Amino acid sequence: MKRIPIVALLAAAAAHAQDAGTLINGMYPQLEAIYKDLHAHPEIAFQEERTAARLAAEMRKIGFEVTEKVGKTGVVAIYKNGAGPMVLVRTELDGLPMDEKSGLPYASKNGAAHSCGHDVHMTAWLGAARALVALKSQWKGTLMFIGQPAEETVSGAKAMLDDGLFQRFGGKPDYAFALHSWPLAYGTIGYNSGAVSSNSDAIEITFKGRGGHGSAPDKALDPITIAARFVVDVQTVISREKDPKEFGVVTIGAINGGTVGNIIPDTVRVRGTIRSYSPAVREKLLAGVRRVANASAAMADAPAPDVQLIPGGLAIDNNDALVTRTEGVLKQAFGDANVSRMPAMTASEDFSQYVNQGVPGMFFFTGVYAPQDVAAADKGGKPVAFNHSPYYAPVPEPSIKTAAQAMTLAVLNVMSAAAAKP
Ligand SMILES: [Zn+2]
Ligand SMILES: [Zn+2]
Repeated sequence: MKRIPIVALLAAAAAHAQDAGTLINGMYPQLEAIYKDLHAHPEIAFQEERTAARLAAEMRKIGFEVTEKVGKTGVVAIYKNGAGPMVLVRTELDGLPMDEKSGLPYASKNGAAHSCGHDVHMTAWLGAARALVALKSQWKGTLMFIGQPAEETVSGAKAMLDDGLFQRFGGKPDYAFALHSWPLAYGTIGYNSGAVSSNSDAIEITFKGRGGHGSAPDKALDPITIAARFVVDVQTVISREKDPKEFGVVTIGAINGGTVGNIIPDTVRVRGTIRSYSPAVREKLLAGVRRVANASAAMADAPAPDVQLIPGGLAIDNNDALVTRTEGVLKQAFGDANVSRMPAMTASEDFSQYVNQGVPGMFFFTGVYAPQDVAAADKGGKPVAFNHSPYYAPVPEPSIKTAAQAMTLAVLNVMSAAAAKP
């Protein structure tokens, strides 16, 4: 293989950045129309039929081979351009079941909302697909663009994989990319090497007692006090057992038991969530929660509780080599000051499902708000709306342009070497 001088690679990257920027600026009016349409018509997990049909139609126009209804409502769009790597680019199709309160002229009115910015991601995904096809003389390989359903319920990636995503469409990709809008200043990009999102496990525990009269606790077995003890004591798993330098959270979000003040109920149900980044911390927290639940019941001489710890999404582990390689082109295109490493988010994301199949992946964040608004919020001024807020309202043009250009460049960067081979 011929070695390509580093100067030539840098010059090529600069030319790519310029080309991608020009292409995306040119197509922006069409992208904005699509964005506003998607924003006004959100659909929740596994019901994204209109959304999927829209993306499928747009991708066919660009020349992709499109398969619909993969993993229920998912879309797979393939574009082959000679021998080279296969690169997966994921967007999510779903909105959230909530009323939008942004007051925007194109706000949704159907009881669902794109308050996580998946409409920004879909529009950037279309923009990147178009730009990459327009630049096809500069790269070789296969694009696997996927529109994934049900990200918000952390179940759509699994549905697509279970439906044969890596068997039916030409194999396991060589690289995978996804981006997420975040309440950063628009024009800025953040990412991390290693964990970028958390492991998430749900807690469902039923404490069992024996119901009775509130005036005669000795004739009953009170599950309320057992649950109360558990809720307090379980926090020592975090404060006394976990390495304080490692991230970990246990939150109890719901306690249900009893009807009135003078009846001791039979059972109490406790629900919560466990979050962590590292697999070892996750194991420690799961074991600790289970042990404290059993011990709380044992202390009252009650039957063992029914403890269910249900795995949700695993942390996304960004590939270090891919992050380093992509970082260079992003910095060149957007400037050192606008491209930086950031701490992992505590939320969960099922992009990890693809990466955990052994695919080197990178998940990065792109900003959506005016820099002066973000700066004011950082100084204690009016807060900017976070993802999942009914007021979440990205500024479309700079948010979409940055996301589309960043994704185009990230993909080009791993595919252009194949084109440069003699
Ligand atoms: Zn979300
Ligand atoms: Zn999201």
